[in-house]
Amino acid sequence: TGRPQIDFTGAKAENLSFSYGEEEILSGLSLDIPQGKITGIVGRSGSGKSTFLKLLMRFWEVRQGTCTLSGTSISDINTVNLRELESYVTQETHLFHDTIANNLRIAKQDATLEEIQEACRKASIHDWILTLPQGYDTPVGELGDTLSGGERQRLGLARAFLHSAPLILLDEPTSNLDSLNEAIILHALQKETQDRTVVLVSHRASTMRIADQVIPVENGRRS
Ligand code: ATP
Ligand code: MG
Repeated sequence: TGRPQIDFTGAKAENLSFSYGEEEILSGLSLDIPQGKITGIVGRSGSGKSTFLKLLMRFWEVRQGTCTLSGTSISDINTVNLRELESYVTQETHLFHDTIANNLRIAKQDATLEEIQEACRKASIHDWILTLPQGYDTPVGELGDTLSGGERQRLGLARAFLHSAPLILLDEPTSNLDSLNEAIILHALQKETQDRTVVLVSHRASTMRIADQVIPVENGRRS
């Protein structure tokens, strides 16, 4: 059914440290991500924000401190369950050589066209798709390099809206967007979080205005 096996009740990092090599990137980071809220994370370039999201995604192993979802250590949640619990949007969106609709369907296999369109409206990309020669059936390959960074990014956000994961992790999700498109998406995100939880990493103050709490990070810990 795609329903997560685990009910999402919040995420937590406690005394979390991490390094890729010699240098410590996260140094005893502790923070709470309460269910149903938007948590913003801000901090200078290199402070470890993206690394923290990658640990939440289990792209890397937690070796020092703890990182939990619903009270369970990330390392003890199987990755299939984890993918059902989490949506992840970054500055890059990878698209398959297939139609726009099928590129969105990877977020929800049995999605109806109505559901896809609804997600695209929230991501402020629906009107643009309608201008394409075959609308939702346009093969991405035919658009080639004409797809802008902002268009890709909005398709990535549409996937997150379509995927019913209770936790949405957004790493600079609006970095390539103008302020109008950003405003539409932030508004949709705010409405979404009545039953979803969002972690939002961004440099932009305009993005942080929708956050319920903002956590400043410096040198891998709270500042
Ligand atoms: P930005 O705001 O620029 O996105 P950030 O806060 O997201 O920065 P991270 O991407 O978490 O920072 O990177 C933290 C540090 O870890 C940086 O010094 C970076 O060079 C380093 N780093 C990130 N990924 C790797 C990796 N795969 N291997 C080695 N070092 C890495
Ligand atoms: Mg980053």
